[in-house]
Amino acid sequence: MQIHHLSEKNSVLNHFLGQIRDVAIHNDSLRFRKNMERIGEIMAYEMSKNLEYQDVAVTTPLGTKPTHYIKNPLVVCSILRAGLTLHNGFLNYFDAAENGFISAYRHHPNNDDFFEIVVQYQAIADINNKTVILVDPMLATGQSIVAVYNRLIERGTPAEIHIAVVIAAPEGIAHLQAELPDTCHLWIASTDDCLNEHSYIVPGLGDAGDLAYGQKL
Ligand code: URA
Repeated sequence: MQIHHLSEKNSVLNHFLGQIRDVAIHNDSLRFRKNMERIGEIMAYEMSKNLEYQDVAVTTPLGTKPTHYIKNPLVVCSILRAGLTLHNGFLNYFDAAENGFISAYRHHPNNDDFFEIVVQYQAIADINNKTVILVDPMLATGQSIVAVYNRLIERGTPAEIHIAVVIAAPEGIAHLQAELPDTCHLWIASTDDCLNEHSYIVPGLGDAGDLAYGQKL
């Protein structure tokens, strides 16, 4: 797997990352969603430097300009529900992309810290020969992303797969490296220290879905 770390060099990305983590402003869900969307835009821009382009000639009022457009059609596929915030940021830049939504949640059968990933709802465009961008803000254990990846590739053969995460734990990165093919790209905005006993990322930000959309029952 090819890993791309986006916050090693300082940029405004670090402001947005600081704000989504900051417990002092966690009561402002609009700001949290907006910052996630802006991070999605930055990640889309950085990722766009790695895509394939084709030559096109654009007609202007005064002539013709040779330029370059993204070659493969794109499918932005988000893991519900926390992925939705980032999804909009990717769509702001890849506005012609088709879409996919897939739900994955942690089912705790014994009401303890053990969980299984349950993949349920799926609404996904045709992915054959397209560039698929799989979006999920928090890479914790990596089990959800691997489960969703396995469902995705049952549906077709993409030209490329890029996985975009905002905060990654080393355990999740290692799991993806072990389970996913070398051809996959992993884009990480920030890498954290470890997971806690509940498999939450430390220091992380808490529950991204709750911060964006409120607590669930
Ligand atoms: N999902 C979250 O929202 N946060 C974590 O820390 C781990 C998984």
